[in-house]
Amino acid sequence: MSYSDLPRENIVALGPHRIMAICKELDWQPYRVVQILKWLWQKGAESFEEMTNISQDCRRLLASRFSIDRLNVISAQRASDGTTKFHLKLRDGIGIESVLIPDGGRFTVCVSTQAGCPLQCSFCRSGRTHFIRNLYWYEIVDQVVAVTKTTNRRPTNVVFMGMGEPFLNYEQVIIALSVLNADYGLKIGARHLTVSTAGIPHRIRAYAHIPLQARLAVSLNAADQLTRSKLMPISHRYPLKQVLDAVRQFVSITRRRVTFEYVLIEGINDRPHDALSLRKILSGMPCKVNLIPLNPLPGSRLRAPTPERIRQFADFLYPSMSTVTIRRSRGISVSAGCGQLAATTLP
Ligand code: SAH
Repeated sequence: MSYSDLPRENIVALGPHRIMAICKELDWQPYRVVQILKWLWQKGAESFEEMTNISQDCRRLLASRFSIDRLNVISAQRASDGTTKFHLKLRDGIGIESVLIPDGGRFTVCVSTQAGCPLQCSFCRSGRTHFIRNLYWYEIVDQVVAVTKTTNRRPTNVVFMGMGEPFLNYEQVIIALSVLNADYGLKIGARHLTVSTAGIPHRIRAYAHIPLQARLAVSLNAADQLTRSKLMPISHRYPLKQVLDAVRQFVSITRRRVTFEYVLIEGINDRPHDALSLRKILSGMPCKVNLIPLNPLPGSRLRAPTPERIRQFADFLYPSMSTVTIRRSRGISVSAGCGQLAATTLP
């Protein structure tokens, strides 16, 4: 039986260790490993033919054993502010979404970590989708490759803030981070990689020990357990206090500042006493608070507060909180804003 009789394996799904083992088995020089990985992750190669610094014989051998199956870009919708939402198809036909956000010198890609989301937060459109499955690390990294390939620019930042809960897909997310950071990979500095979580305490603690100085963002959205559990059902399972304890541990282990995201919803969590509670629960914590005015959801009565009220809320947090930002809404006209991703088309 020859190699061509075997079903071909997708080389994109193989990490550096597997590719190294294959090169060893073929008696190839170790530098081939890096060459292959760079073609896959830095140049986004779609065929072995493209790998011109690898000899023709080697390319032919690779092509007889492996396929290169990447994510397919189905559509891209560009908002007037330059934010572009991509609808991508996975190999098994499931649709996911990623967002490209150009902002001055920054070029940020927002990736999904799950197809559909199991969390069901009441203010988030992704929560209305059905959870389908976790994404593999290479499906997460390939979103960055697919999206930036449509431009001539390299990504500067990656935020794990698309569809899904990254810490419910922890292992694949950690591998994806290492490939995004690696020299053979996308070479994005760890401090430019941010994972956002709805708050899973044991994962927050584990994240403090990964060998990468990546950033942590926590979607707080309420400063008391009752309001938070109404908005985010996961808060019943992982109460606010446990989340905050885990974040404090993260900060003391890593000495890194954490970002708290707080979606502002009129009449629900935007009152002065909410701001005061927020100030109280975060006191003494080196952190940044990112206020996100609620992005509109079809068929929902929830709304963002008025700009004055948002300003007022931010003012209540000063001066005890040094960094409070109000996130500008990006990509709303193409439903690419926070909490607006919803494509999970089944095959
Ligand atoms: N599950 C993770 C990753 C998703 S990040 C997490 O919860 O952190 C998505 C961010 O968008 C979260 O901070 C969430 O609170 C916010 N968000 C969700 N729906 C939103 C909406 N309708 N308007 C504004 N922000 C929203």
